[in-house]
Amino acid sequence: MKCPICKSDNDRVVDSRTSQDGYAIRRRRECVTCGRRYTTYERIEDAVIKVVKKDGGRMPFERDKIKQGLTRACWKRPISDDQIEAATAAIEAEVYDSFEAEVTSGELGEIVLRHLSRLDQVAFVRFASVYRQFKDVRDFVEELEPMLRDPGQVRHAGPR
Ligand SMILES: [Zn+2]
Repeated sequence: MKCPICKSDNDRVVDSRTSQDGYAIRRRRECVTCGRRYTTYERIEDAVIKVVKKDGGRMPFERDKIKQGLTRACWKRPISDDQIEAATAAIEAEVYDSFEAEVTSGELGEIVLRHLSRLDQVAFVRFASVYRQFKDVRDFVEELEPMLRDPGQVRHAGPR
């Protein structure tokens, strides 16, 4: 931390304490070069990733919504709550690993689709049909075809 008075980059922390609300750490620093003391605050950066919708609106990323979406897609499928929970956690981890502040709803949808395709093909198609809003039956069949040919391989088209 550069000294605000003499600008030298040579300080030591003389005191460190948590602020009253508990969300910040207050540090008293002393410049070793000029001896002046100053205070810094360390805070948690706004850690919640925002989802940018198609209309430009932003909402906080909510893992519960992902889980609800997966649960709906897996309705009456042989998928356990544990599997849904694990997929939700994997999606959440991928979002936080891959994006810093914002993820578009399109990118998020593709991540969910990728994880769903590993979980259950029927659930994948259910989610994809809602999410991608297939224009006609042909689009839908095109999406299905690669899976029917080779169930291990699922093609991922970009959002329309
Ligand atoms: Zn100084």
